[in-house]
Order: sequence, then structure tokens, then C-alpha cells
Amino acid sequence: MNGNMMFQPLLISSLIEHAEMYHGDTAVISKNTDGSMTHSNWAQVAKNSKRFANVLQSFGLSLSDRVATVAWNNHRHLEAWYAISGSGLICHTINPRLFPEQLIYIINDAHDRVVLFDKNFVHLIVSIKEYLPNVEHFICLDAYDSAIVDAFPEVKFYDQLLDTQSDQYVWPELEESLASSLCYTSGTTGHPKGVLYSHRSTVLHSYAISMPDSLNFSAMDVVMPVVPMFHVNAWGAPYTAAMVGCSLVLPGPMLDGISLVNLIDQYHVTNALGVPTIWQGLLTAAHQLGSQLHSLKRNVVGGATCPPSMIKTFRDVYQCETIHAWGMTETSPIGSVNQLKAKHAELSEAEQFKLRFSQGRPPFGVTLRISDDEKSQQELPRDGQTTGHLQIKGHWIVDTYFGKNSNALTEDGWFDTGDIATLDADGYLSIRDRSKDLIKSGGEWISSVELENIAIAHPEIENVAVIAATHLKWDERPILIAKKSATSQITETDLLNYYTDKIAKWQIPDKVIFVDTIPMGGTGKVLKKDLREQFGAILLES
Ligand code: ADP
Repeated sequence: MNGNMMFQPLLISSLIEHAEMYHGDTAVISKNTDGSMTHSNWAQVAKNSKRFANVLQSFGLSLSDRVATVAWNNHRHLEAWYAISGSGLICHTINPRLFPEQLIYIINDAHDRVVLFDKNFVHLIVSIKEYLPNVEHFICLDAYDSAIVDAFPEVKFYDQLLDTQSDQYVWPELEESLASSLCYTSGTTGHPKGVLYSHRSTVLHSYAISMPDSLNFSAMDVVMPVVPMFHVNAWGAPYTAAMVGCSLVLPGPMLDGISLVNLIDQYHVTNALGVPTIWQGLLTAAHQLGSQLHSLKRNVVGGATCPPSMIKTFRDVYQCETIHAWGMTETSPIGSVNQLKAKHAELSEAEQFKLRFSQGRPPFGVTLRISDDEKSQQELPRDGQTTGHLQIKGHWIVDTYFGKNSNALTEDGWFDTGDIATLDADGYLSIRDRSKDLIKSGGEWISSVELENIAIAHPEIENVAVIAATHLKWDERPILIAKKSATSQITETDLLNYYTDKIAKWQIPDKVIFVDTIPMGGTGKVLKKDLREQFGAILLES
């Protein structure tokens, strides 16, 4: 017997409808590409998204056609997002920091029929447009600009298109399993692959991350997603913001520390989301500017390991609770979030703090296990000690990559993340490394993450990466690539001595290489592949 309850499909359009109806006057503030600010609200965002849905309809697109966006976090991008997915098309967010060849590959692989782009990407789009045979409409997310038309005669302008359309549009009743958006993995470890989210997976993910033990969004918050909308949908923040009716501050293209501190202070941001490199820049800028970041109560850190020293600075200096979360493109992205439990109140402050370093535990809706091999079904103990291949399943986890026929899962239906981790009995996850970044020294594993966390805590060190270098005797040994602060006189010996008593002697790196810059990928992660190519043979040279 079925239950006698209403059935309503879980649709992305219902999020924007809710925000329009119950939180219409809540602010959505956005920095434009020229640095000016736009003050809007959920009612206005909803109206413009309906206008843009009418524009898309006028193009004669078919259900599930792909519409790409190459844009920063701003109000037009947000409106277009809801218009695209809400009207049954697929919003394909693209990372503009990719190489032009990768952009071309991704746009063609996805068969995008429309490309929306921010004004500051016009040269990029002009340089690749002749290689995009499937794209019928190029839309600049801005007001009309004759200078752009000179370089790009066929371009259309978002604001002009909106002016031609009514804000009356009835969101279609779609199947909840229909695809809503498409995001390619950032390719840190291999060729980009498309992950195709559904309306259902997105709405369920939004519920999960809004909860107090998760990213903890409420209608009282002013949320600033610094993580770009092209990086796994800004970790779902713009969807959850509409669901709970919080205020949004969209930082546009200026993601340097000073710009972010100013936004936080001016608009009283209470919760912000970003990768560790963003927070590193913000902490330096807050110190320089003498800001206390008064309004910031929480910040979410993910995408790469958050160094414990950073969590401590946010807590001790700024009274801001850092929420360390783990996820990936294939997991929508949230797979675990670090929040404590009631029983932890009995622990000492030091013990509580130690617990907060880990990547946290899974919210309802996903399950984690570690296994002895990528393909294996042999679960390893959840004892907080045993290290294994991290696997996941749940409502918002990829099943099959876009355009591929066979699924990406183990035989018993789990997705192998490529991460190496421990899990404890409560499900607290500690990422030890990516399987490709682990250092295998004389048959023992050394975690590059652990070595990086120690070095980054040194006050004269700005950024680090530990990689495996080939070694004749031990196969691989760790070497440390470090960027020191401008005034630092630190030497290789000083930095190696800093490891003494913090880690077993045999795990201390063999060498330190000081560099001016550490190569970062488009989503703010260290490109270890490049570093391995450059320095991987250095221990063979002497
Ligand atoms: P790519 O795999 O191309 O870098 P993703 O952005 O999907 O693209 O990256 C996911 C990976 O990032 C995870 O598999 C994991 O290795 C790493 N990661 C994400 N969050 C964390 C975290 N909190 N701590 C450590 N590593 C993390």
C-alpha cells in the first residue's frame, strides 16, 4: 500500500519560487566585473530568471540542451542559473581558468548550444569561438557595449535580451530525475570528466548542507560563496541560500584578500565558503587592514586540506568557527562536514580542537567506507587508524560520467574517490592523501598532507607542497617545495629542523626547494603533477 501523501517533484525551480514568495526582499548583493556593486533581492533575481527563461525559450532549444556559463559569482550568473535549470535545460558551468584547449574540449564534449560569459572573458571567447561548431548564441552577461560588438559582431547582451521579455513565466513541471547542471572535474589528476547532476540530487543536497550539523545556513545569515559557481556549483551554496532565504554576497572576479575583507566588513557577511588558499589571502589581508572580521561567525573550508594552524587563527584571533568539509565534483560536492557531537563536550579543549582537524562526518544521505583496494568490496575497520581507499554512495553521488556508457562504480555500487583516508567509529573522516600523491618510501606510506601541515604552520612560510621524488634506494622520498614570506631568511636546514619531534624521523623530507610561486590549478589547488614533472628526479641528480 502506498502512502496517501502528495507527490511533488524535487525541482530547482521550486527553490527560486520559494525565495521569491517568502524572502523576496532579502538582499542579493553582487560585485560586477568592473568593481561596481549591484544591490538586488530574491524577488528581482526570480523575475529576471523568468525573463531569461523566456529568452531561452525564444531560441527554440530542446529539453536537456546544454547552456554554458563562463562567469564569476554575480547576480546575472545567478539569474541565468535558475533560468537554465528551471526551464529544463542543463546549466554547464565552466572554469574560465582552464587552458583554451581544455575549454574547447569541454564545450564541444558537452555540445553546448549557448555560451554565456562575463565581460572580462570576451577576448577568451573570441579566441576560441571558431572552434565551437555547436554554439549558436554567445551572450555577454552585461549591458550593451559597442566596443565588444566591434570585436565580436554576433554577440548578444544579457541586459538587452531581458528587456525584450516579460517576467511572466510558468516553471515547467519536470521529472525530478531530469539533468539540471553539468560540471567537469577540474582535471587536477587527469582529463576533465563531466558530472551530470539532477534536480532531485541537487535539492536533496541543498537540504543536507543547510542543516546545523552541516554548513548551517539560516534566514539570519549573510552568506558569501567565494568558491566559484563553476567549482561544483559553489558547493551548492546558491541553491541552499534560496532554500533558507538567506542574504547572498557574490564577490565577482576580485578574490584577493583585501577585496574579500572589505566585502565581509561592509555587508556584514556571517558565513563564507572557499578553498584554503583563499583563506590564507584573507587572513594576511585582515591582519594588514587591522580588520577583526566582526560579523564572520563561520567559514567553510574545503577542496583541499585545511591546515590546523588556519583553523586555530580563525578561532583564536577572529572568533570564527572554521567548518572543514570534504567533497568532490562527483559528490555534488559535500561528503562530510566537521561538526562535533554532544559527547565531545566532555573532552578537553585540546582534544576537541584535534577532532576539528579532520574532514568530519557524513550528513544523512551519504555513506562512507574505506576499502583495501580501489575496486575491492572488502571494507576495512572504522577504527580511526586503518588507512584505505575512500568510497562513497548516496543520493547526490555520481553514477556514470557524462557521455560514458559504463558506470563509474565498484561492482557493489560504491564510487571510489581516489582519496586515501581513515574513518573512525562515528564516521569522522581523515583524508591522508590522494592515492596519486601518497609517497611510497621503502614500502611504507608517507602522507604528503601531514608534512605540508607542519611546514605551513611555520610563521615564515607562505605556501608549500610535498611531492614524491624518485629515489634509488627507497623508490620514493618526500621533498618539500616551499614559498617563504618576502622578508624571511629561513634556510633549508631550519625548515627541516622544524620537523624534529613533530613526526617520525624517517618521514622528514629529504630536501627543501624554495620557489617564488607554487603552481595552482583553476580551482585553487596545487598542481602536484607539474611539480613532480619539474622536481621528481632531483634526488637522482646528486
Ligand atoms: P579535482 O579532483 O579535479 O581536483 P575536485 O574539486 O572534485 O576536482 O577535487 C576533489 C578532491 O579534492 C578530493 O578527492 C580530495 O582529494 C580533495 N579534497 C576536497 N576537500 C578536501 C579536504 N577538506 N581535505 C583534503 N582534501 C580535500
